[in-house]
Amino acid sequence: MTSKEARERKLKEIQEIAAGWGEMIAREAFPNGPGLDVTLADMEEIAVTASRALVQGAVESMTATQGEQLGESAPCPICGKACPLTRKSRPVTVRGGTATLEEPMGHCPTCRRDFFPSAFGVEAGRSRIQLNDPASHPPYHQRH
Ligand SMILES: [Zn+2]
Repeated sequence: MTSKEARERKLKEIQEIAAGWGEMIAREAFPNGPGLDVTLADMEEIAVTASRALVQGAVESMTATQGEQLGESAPCPICGKACPLTRKSRPVTVRGGTATLEEPMGHCPTCRRDFFPSAFGVEAGRSRIQLNDPASHPPYHQRH
């Protein structure tokens, strides 16, 4: 199986799980089923609210896990000196919603510059979620 096939199969599994969650949201919103007075627009509002929350929860969880993998320090991309990392909150718009990234940021006192040793799929100028596609990351962003 190619990595593309594996990725498509994983995405299909995730779709099926999320469709089940959609049914749960419907039962949560209307435990006795929606009455005949409930419009399609009402249903859509509930579904979209849930969808945006799902996007936020999933993206924040995945980017937080990536941020933890970077640890507490990273080498400066200019001089290579190990510099402590702090976390900076950054709201981003992603497809289907918004999320707040706790983005690791380093500051090199020697080079007097900030840097982002990010393995994040979401980087400045890019808002597309990358699924295990290391070829899309420039060399400095690859994990060591
Ligand atoms: Zn430096």
